[in-house]
Amino acid sequence: MSRAFSFLTALTLSTLLIGVTTSLIISLLFCIFILGLWVLYQSFQQQRFLDWLKNTSYKPILNGYGIWKLIYSSANSLLKKGELQESKLKNNLAAFRRATEAMEDGILVIDNNNYIVAVTPRAEHYLNISQEQDYGTSILNHIRHPSFVEYLLSGSLNKTIIIEDLSLDKKALEFKLLPFDATQKIILCRDVTKLRQLEVEKKDFVASASHELKTPLTVITGYLETIFEIEINKVEKNRMLAEMLIQTKRMDKLINDLLLLSKLEKSDTSQNKTQVNISLLTHELSKLSGNINKDQHTICFDIEDNVFVSGTKDNLRSAFWNLINNAIIYTEKGGKIEVSCLNTEEGRAVFIVKDNGIGIEAYHIDKLTERFFRVDSSGSRESKGTGLGLSIVNEIVQKHGASLKIQSQPNVGSKFSIIFPADV
Ligand code: ADP
Repeated sequence: MSRAFSFLTALTLSTLLIGVTTSLIISLLFCIFILGLWVLYQSFQQQRFLDWLKNTSYKPILNGYGIWKLIYSSANSLLKKGELQESKLKNNLAAFRRATEAMEDGILVIDNNNYIVAVTPRAEHYLNISQEQDYGTSILNHIRHPSFVEYLLSGSLNKTIIIEDLSLDKKALEFKLLPFDATQKIILCRDVTKLRQLEVEKKDFVASASHELKTPLTVITGYLETIFEIEINKVEKNRMLAEMLIQTKRMDKLINDLLLLSKLEKSDTSQNKTQVNISLLTHELSKLSGNINKDQHTICFDIEDNVFVSGTKDNLRSAFWNLINNAIIYTEKGGKIEVSCLNTEEGRAVFIVKDNGIGIEAYHIDKLTERFFRVDSSGSRESKGTGLGLSIVNEIVQKHGASLKIQSQPNVGSKFSIIFPADV
């Protein structure tokens, strides 16, 4: 204001001076010329300012004179503040996106008409939706599963649903609708495929364990009822008692295997580990196998001295014995079994059991470590193992950071190798 006032005062004084010294016309012309220049300058600066305001690139503007100098410096400092705020907002947004990316749950924000407002990367991945492309479209156009549509339209806040066949890869997704504000809702979604699988496995496991225990129990009950109800001779009675003993032992083995498996699952891998001399352990087992085998097979042991692994002695004994015992069971009389315990050139301890027994079809090999899995051959189901031996071996192998390699060919034989990590 003061600058405009000084300018007008200076102009009036100059006009008066020119009027007094020359003529009135010249002084008026001078005044009009100066005012014209001033008006031109003002409109030039106005246009420049308007252009700058319209320009979205937010470049700083050049300095002007007079009042424009003030306007431009205020505008520039406003611009700087805006830029600072924008970059802060961008950083916050990026941090928020990173945080939501790390979350297991996907988050979807929708408005009251079910139009997509925001989608976190995890939700984008789970639901095959893109924040950029699908913003503002209805979520019901993307998820058309009848259960989801019914759930969303019912507006059941805080309730959850699980949909298992939403995508082609058959992922099980859990959805939860949460209130957000008056105009928006949040849908939380998470992948519960593994959890569902575990539930199914747990149910299967209980069913299989009950079935395995029920079979010998039924046999024992049948014999006991016969002994009580019918007059039988001593020979027959002894035969029944002997059979009952076999079934009782089978149940005992099954329960012990189940207990061992559950103990292994619960055990902390880092605890109770010592340096175990598996050469000595294999020597111990060579004596045991001699007693059990009673010269039915030729069993050869190739044991290198002082092969050490970091682990739990009892568990290692159990795993090694399971493999030797299986070789004895699944190799016909007169067969050959070779057991080796050595250090490889790369410094890995290995324990190998090789036999020339009945062998296993290739398509069974991947399933051998599943619980209760038995290859249904030559009555093995009735008379031999529980189907838990190799799952116990596998569990122990994993607890030791080792790997179990199975090679087999029907009627040629099998080779089971436990390969320990090099750094133990
Ligand atoms: P089981 O208690 O029935 O022996 P395992 O888990 O130890 O259970 O073994 C699973 C199945 O793998 C066995 O039922 C058997 O059919 C097969 N198997 C295991 N070891 C051998 C082997 N050395 N030779 C042939 N088949 C084997």
